[in-house]
This record gives sequence, C-alpha cells and structure tokens, in this order.
Amino acid sequence: MNRTCIVIGASHAAAQLTTSLRQEGWEGDILVIGDEPHLPYHRPPLSKAFLSGEKTAESLPIRPAAFYQKNDIQFRQGRVTAINRDQQTLTLVGGGGESEQLSYDKLALCTGARVRKVELPGSDLDGIHYLRDMADAESIKRSVAEGQHAVIIGGGYVGLETAASLRQLGMQVTLLERGPRILGRVTALEVSEFYHRVHTESGVCIHTHVPVAGFSGNGRVQKVVCADGTEFPAHLVVVGVGVMPNTELAEMAGLNVDSGIVVDEGCRTNDQNIVAAGDCANQLNRLYGCRIRLESVPNATEQAKIAAASVCGKSSASEFLPWFWSDQYNLKLQIAGLSQGYDQLVIRGDRFTGRSFAAFYFKEGRLIAADCVNRPQEYLLSKRIIAQNLAVQPDRFADESVPVKELLLADSPVLVTVGGCSQTA
Ligand SMILES: Cc1cc2nc3c(=O)[nH]c(=O)nc-3n(C[C@H](O)[C@H](O)[C@H](O)COP(=O)(O)OP(=O)(O)OC[C@H]3O[C@@H](n4cnc5c(N)ncnc54)[C@H](O)[C@@H]3O)c2cc1C
Repeated sequence: MNRTCIVIGASHAAAQLTTSLRQEGWEGDILVIGDEPHLPYHRPPLSKAFLSGEKTAESLPIRPAAFYQKNDIQFRQGRVTAINRDQQTLTLVGGGGESEQLSYDKLALCTGARVRKVELPGSDLDGIHYLRDMADAESIKRSVAEGQHAVIIGGGYVGLETAASLRQLGMQVTLLERGPRILGRVTALEVSEFYHRVHTESGVCIHTHVPVAGFSGNGRVQKVVCADGTEFPAHLVVVGVGVMPNTELAEMAGLNVDSGIVVDEGCRTNDQNIVAAGDCANQLNRLYGCRIRLESVPNATEQAKIAAASVCGKSSASEFLPWFWSDQYNLKLQIAGLSQGYDQLVIRGDRFTGRSFAAFYFKEGRLIAADCVNRPQEYLLSKRIIAQNLAVQPDRFADESVPVKELLLADSPVLVTVGGCSQTA
C-alpha cells in the first residue's frame, strides 16, 4: 500500500511530479514542502514578461490551487533542514522557527538551484539584487525608475533578458561582463556578436573584459567600481553570474552528490526510496552519452515524470533532447541540443543586419545543436535531426534557397550514437 510521498521544493519539478504521481496511480498522501510562500510558479517570466510588466503574479502559477485540491496534493510552507534515511523522517522548520519531524515512505528532492552571490566590497548595499524567485523580481520592479541607471553584472541569458526588460521600462542600462564576450559559456562567437549588436541597438551599453571590484554608496548603491578603477553610476544593480544546485540536504543525508544529486536513468538516487529531479539533479543523458546537470524547465518537467514513475515502482527512462529558450525584445531564441565540442558552425540567414537566423553546430559532420532566432521551422527540424541522429549535409544548411524541409534528405540514414561530453548547461 502506498502511503506518503513527500516532495521537497515547490518547484517546476514538483508541479509535474505530483501530477504524474496521481496519473501513475499513487493513492497515498502527497505533501509538497516549499520555502517560498507560493504554489509552484513559472520562473522564466521573472526576467522577461513579469519584470517588464506584461505579465502579473496571478498568471505565474503552473497549476491553479483547485487542481491540487482536486488531486489531493497538500502543500506546507517551511524549510527542510535534515533527512534521516534510516528512520525515513525529515526535519521541517516552519516560518516561526518551530521544528517538526515528518515521516515519509518515498521522498523526492526537487530543491532546484540558488544564485551565486558576489562577495565584494559594498556588496551588501541596498539596491543590489539577484534574480531567482518572485520576491527578487518584485524587489527589482520596485526599484525601477525611468531614466535612472541600471547596471547588470553578467552577460548570460538571465542578465541579457533582464537588460532587455529594464530597457523596455525606460531605464539606462549598462551590462558588465568579465569575459571576452556575452553568452561566452553557451554560444558560438557569431551568436554572441548578434546579441551584442541587438542590445547595443536597443541602447544597452555592453562592456566586456570588465571584472567588477566592488560597489560604493551611502547605504544604497550609487556606483559599480571595476578592477581598472572605472566607475559606473547605478541606481539599481542586478547580479546574474550563475547558480549553484541545492544539494546540501542530499549530501548531509549521505546521498551521492557530484555537481548535482547523482541519479540513475529512473531519477533514483542511491537510496531506493529517494528520487531527485530538476536543476539539482545530475543524470546521464543517453543522447549525448554523458552525465549532465541541466538548468531548464523542460528538463525539470521530463525528469519529474520519470521520477514519479520510479516512485510508483515502474521503470521509465527517456532519450531527452535538451532544449531551452530565451526571449529578448522581439527575439525568440530556441535552442536544441548541447553545442559543446562542436567543430563546425553553419549560419543560415543574416545575423549582421537581420533579426532572424539559425546557427547550426556540427561535430564530425553530425548536427549536435542549433540556436534558432525567430526561426521555428529550423528549430523543429534540428530537434528531429538531433533526437533521431539523422545524417545531413552541413553545407546545405547555409543555403537559404534550399527550403528548410529539404535540408533533411529523404534517405537520411540514422548515425551511430555520439559519445561523451561534460557540459553543464
Ligand atoms: C530569471 C530566470 C529566467 C529563466 N528563464 C528560463 C527560460 O527561459 N527557459 C528555461 O527553460 N529555464 C529558465 N530558467 C531556469 C528555470 O527556471 C529552472 O531550470 C527551473 O526553475 C528549475 O526547476 P526546479 O524544479 O529544478 O526547481 P526550482 O524551480 O528552482 O525550485 C526549487 C524550489 O525548492 C525550494 N527549496 C530548496 N531547498 C529547499 C528546502 N530545503 N526546503 C524547502 N524548499 C526548498 C526553493 O526555494 C525553490 O522554491 C530561468 C530561471 C530564472 C531564475
């Protein structure tokens, strides 16, 4: 008889895992414990439509409260501080600091990730923000003032999306990137150059090779100070320099952790009663033949479905193709696959003056990833080619006179599986 499944983290993964548990036939109790005062909500809009004001908080929940009630899925707010695997209990600390022990039969770790903080002189001044949850986004929104200076630290997707949203709100935006180019960790130079141009055209001042050394101000930040002494005026600072998986709970409980909670193809940890899913989990990706910890909603959702099946004693595994998206201004970037290790890049479309193109990443003649800007057809085709491991002719991809559907040859053979990567996306 199934009794109690507890999910830690009211997250993207939790919204799916609890739903899938009922679909898989779990008849016992389901309890989700989350330390935020919300039902699971969509995080991606926090740097996009929610920040720019096009979406409200009411539109963010992944499922309405009525859905969870109907499916008898309970929620409690609080923080889980310890897991006792021998006794199958956990310690829950509530908002008032009171602590209590809860018993579980099955446990799901959906603890996600947290922002990496900068420890620099002045980094505790008011007006310096991070962006991971709704409270962060609301706090940034309250600091927005038209015509005032915002400084974004970090030229990754969250930093760039935030820059775009703040520009849309009329702020003067400067973006500081320590590396030689924006998006340096995740895209080819050509794609970075495109986004550099678009942001510059939209009025964002991007400075690369600029390590930040600290912040100055009287109680509230007024300037960002760089290593070479350059100062940038700042009414508002948003730091976006990456995240770290929340794995401490798992580690303390003696679960295997290696750049994420190590799970098998069924999202099971080394404890048969504990699964993990989402940003906190490190899993073998069969398509790429390597272990990866992905930071994306599609991955959290996919792993949650598999984890739910495992909790119900069923075996399930996937050939998940990593995919991502990013919205900036009127540009929809759709990313299929992982580009690390590519040896050939083919561009289709005009990335110098236009606002629509695709960058295809090949390794040994095989398509391994594609960045598609306002190119949904190329994106869908790339997903299919990568997922099915189909042979293609890279050079044809650059030729816009060849229709997208003809890039895939009628007799495209299936290639043997790719091996080994070490990418954390
Ligand atoms: C601004 C922003 C923009 C993004 N844009 C995109 C995008 O465009 N596309 C995309 O695919 N992804 C995007 N992401 C990433 C995406 O949001 C994450 O990959 C996704 O949220 C991961 O979901 P998760 O289920 O792993 O956990 P999360 O959604 O991170 O939730 C984990 C929850 O667990 C809670 N928690 C942790 N430890 C405990 C504990 N001990 N006790 C109780 N609760 C705990 C956390 O507080 C949090 O509420 C974006 C993220 C951010 C922040």
